[in-house]
Amino acid sequence: MGELSRLAGILNIDVGTDVDALFLKLSDRLQETGLEVSVDDLKRLTEPLSSIYAIPDHMHAICNMLGDGLIPSNSKAGYLVRMLARRVCRMKEELALEVSLSELGRHHIEHHLEFSNFTQSKEGVMKILELEERKYHEMLRKGEAAVKTALRGVPIESTEAPDETLFRLSEERGLSPEMAISIANLAGWTELSVRVGFAADMASRNAERTKAASKEKTQSMLFPSEEFPSTSMDYYSDTSRTSFEAKVLGCANLSGNQLSSLNLSSEVDNPPTHYVVLDRTLFYPEGGGQLGDQGSLGGVSVCDTRIEKETIYHLTDGPVPIGDISGRVNWERRRQLMDHHTAVHIVGGSARELLGPHIWQAGSNKGARYARIDLTHFSRLSRDELNLIEDHANDIIASNTLVEKTEIPRAEADELFGFELYQGGPPKSSHIRVIRIGDHDVQACGGTHHDKVGEIGELRIIRSSQVQDGVERLQIVAGETAREHAREQERLLRESSEVLGVSSEDLPAAVNRFFEEWKSQQKRIESLEAEIVRLRTSGGDDGAVERDGIRYAIMEVDGGIKALMSMLGELTRDPSKPTLAVLGTKDGGGKIIIAITEGTKAAEAHNAVEILNSISTHIDGGGGGSPTMAQGGGSNPDGIPAALEAARQILGL
Ligand SMILES: [Zn+2]
Repeated sequence: MGELSRLAGILNIDVGTDVDALFLKLSDRLQETGLEVSVDDLKRLTEPLSSIYAIPDHMHAICNMLGDGLIPSNSKAGYLVRMLARRVCRMKEELALEVSLSELGRHHIEHHLEFSNFTQSKEGVMKILELEERKYHEMLRKGEAAVKTALRGVPIESTEAPDETLFRLSEERGLSPEMAISIANLAGWTELSVRVGFAADMASRNAERTKAASKEKTQSMLFPSEEFPSTSMDYYSDTSRTSFEAKVLGCANLSGNQLSSLNLSSEVDNPPTHYVVLDRTLFYPEGGGQLGDQGSLGGVSVCDTRIEKETIYHLTDGPVPIGDISGRVNWERRRQLMDHHTAVHIVGGSARELLGPHIWQAGSNKGARYARIDLTHFSRLSRDELNLIEDHANDIIASNTLVEKTEIPRAEADELFGFELYQGGPPKSSHIRVIRIGDHDVQACGGTHHDKVGEIGELRIIRSSQVQDGVERLQIVAGETAREHAREQERLLRESSEVLGVSSEDLPAAVNRFFEEWKSQQKRIESLEAEIVRLRTSGGDDGAVERDGIRYAIMEVDGGIKALMSMLGELTRDPSKPTLAVLGTKDGGGKIIIAITEGTKAAEAHNAVEILNSISTHIDGGGGGSPTMAQGGGSNPDGIPAALEAARQILGL
């Protein structure tokens, strides 16, 4: 045991190092002291012990991270906490422990942590862990299919899985390499293991990717910003002013390259041709998720506004002369942008108050038509929860709280508000604009906001969707767009009710009834069509001819491919009636299907593909299939009668 503990230090190592060599060394040393323990026995003895120590160690990290407001996800720091939680789940299984992950969390918080300083509550942590364990089992269930598919082609006796396969399973499915391998072991690839050094390679690959992604984000310079001074940003001093006088410092044509690199939003109706730099402006440049302002400068339109370094670029549909100029911001649009922007702050604050401190703004976008906010949350949001958030947000609007806008040095801001301030992204300058809405929300933000929240009027959260596991996207309309949305919904209801001739209250029931009726009528039509075929083929009229014990049914019918198939089924089902059927329809450019009752003398005498090939020229088409079933389509539906006549001739009818 003494020897074991001396070597225990070096046995606590990451996946990927050559553990076997160390175990061998340990076994040798034990033998020197007279203890005969094989490497396998050593592993069997020490592995459960290492799990027993690793579980509380992992729980400590998990509880600290969740306590700080992090939530598990498939990216960034959330990925780390998810991986740790999954490792605990796995170790728990290997040790056959009955206790749940959330119970382990509760125990750890109560006995090993001073939890009062954390932002997340104990109940919040337990709820997240409960969901995380459920997701772990779901992942295992789905993981088995994913691993089997990924390993298709890998020989069952292989000892190593291709690196690329393991990378993919980890990135796309959230399956750690160890997890993927143990699933593979259970699924039949019993010899497979994680190769030595793989963990290190995977870590460096992830680091490379993060680096590449951040490089992509730092946009290259589009404008000659070193030629111009900083523009005075007058939109901050009074957000409701719309006209101003300024001096034009520069104006030039936009190059094709500049235009394509601008990634203009869908709210820009006409592409700009020029950029204009002024000494001062009321035009807000795109930033912080808020789209750029539109309006007019002298005689030209401003289609969009951008900023580079500290110079603002007005993107216009024509040139302006150097000198004095007057500008006007499109107030209706700007007001809408401010409604949406201020609403995003309020909804974020409302969600945090109702759902917990882990609610974090992972991104946002504010246009004139709608706004959206991405929130970190551990489960999908129900409509009931959205209604609560919406109600609370509208209560905040009704309170008409002041929107405090202050500009303070960064160090001071950090001290006053902490990390919570930077939800919208990391700060870029030494001075920070802090936007504070009572006790509901405080953020560093460079956008334009109302002075009082009541100016919004009302907001609606119209839907939520999942951007990725752990991030919910809420779509918001506020002010005029909220009223427009309500009017639009009413119009849809009114028009639908008018079509069905019912009141809008009765619409759901009526739609349901019509849909059920439509489905049953569809079935009835199909069975009637089959009945028609049966009558036409059994009555000996124009449809069917019988010769030498084979029934020939050559017909043009109405309906699409589905109707044709059901008729063919009807015709060729009965082996006691050997049948060759050639059906044609003018539907969809002309279609022909030929079927022969299998295993009968009809199948011995004829080949469906051969017949199809010699008649499909009449509909300018082609096709293929098997000797008893062939299908073709063309582009000349009027050729169907000629094609069927050709079939009769070939068959000598
Ligand atoms: Zn803002």
